Amino acid sequence: MTGQRLSGKVAIVTGAAGGIGFETAVLFAKEGAKVVCADVNEKGVQNTVSKISELVGNGVAIPFKADVSKEDQVKALVEKAVEEYGKLDIMFNNAGIMHPEDDNALNTEERIWNLTMDINVKGVWFGCKHAIIAMRKSGGGSIINTASFVALMGAATPQLAYTASKGAVLAMTRELAMVHARENIRFNSLCPGPIRTPLLMDFLNTEEKKQRRLVHVPQGRFGEAIEQAYGALFLASDESSFVTGTDFRVDGGLSNAYVTPE
Ligand code: NAD
Repeated sequence: MTGQRLSGKVAIVTGAAGGIGFETAVLFAKEGAKVVCADVNEKGVQNTVSKISELVGNGVAIPFKADVSKEDQVKALVEKAVEEYGKLDIMFNNAGIMHPEDDNALNTEERIWNLTMDINVKGVWFGCKHAIIAMRKSGGGSIINTASFVALMGAATPQLAYTASKGAVLAMTRELAMVHARENIRFNSLCPGPIRTPLLMDFLNTEEKKQRRLVHVPQGRFGEAIEQAYGALFLASDESSFVTGTDFRVDGGLSNAYVTPE
């Protein structure tokens, strides 16, 4: 399926080697955008770009190796998008980690906390900062920051640094949306429910751990990365021109659930 919902737009997708980022980069390209695919995983983003070349054509996407927690690398990423494609319309700050040693208040080590905050929070800030600078020059744009349903709900299966980091993404995104509303720069958080990507499946590595979560999901299944990509596509496109500052939930009903169907 291809369309033109992002025709003429230039997008950056971070975390483009992985589940949600990969699917979104491919979908954005199919919908007419030029896409800079960024990730720390260099081979991974080359693979994403090869896939886009195969499905959409050459010259539609480029890979860029960047660690989003390093400001000079994020600045260089945004500059590369502008140099290669002339402007920036869409910034999808999606890269994130959920560290296997992330735990409760007593067991989470400070280095895990700091690493999680550096990537999940500071990385999003740097992405927003440099996208704003570029978007001011082209008259506006859409910035989408990947948060999580755990920013909205408490879980008794703790991953404290991750949860706190995603809460920070929601709060930061909301405030940025207000500050830059008159500049035609929109900011929205994407709040995925639990998705069948390596990030989560590596964490939930037994059937028991999976079932412990699935009982709370009204639809009774994990989501797919492509379902997040369609949410990001709406927020990226002009179809969402009056949508800013939202916690946009793509979570199978999870964050509204009390008792789920048997
Ligand atoms: P994933 O692990 O498949 O992809 C994440 C990508 O981010 C990887 O390619 C990884 O190399 C990249 N990355 C990690 N650190 C980076 C850094 N410092 N700089 C640049 N790239 C870096 O995971 P995913 O499930 O696709 O996650 C994407 C986003 O969605 C994350 O922010 C995650 O927290 C969020 N999320 C995921 C779920 C889920 O259930 N999978 C649920 C809610 C939110």
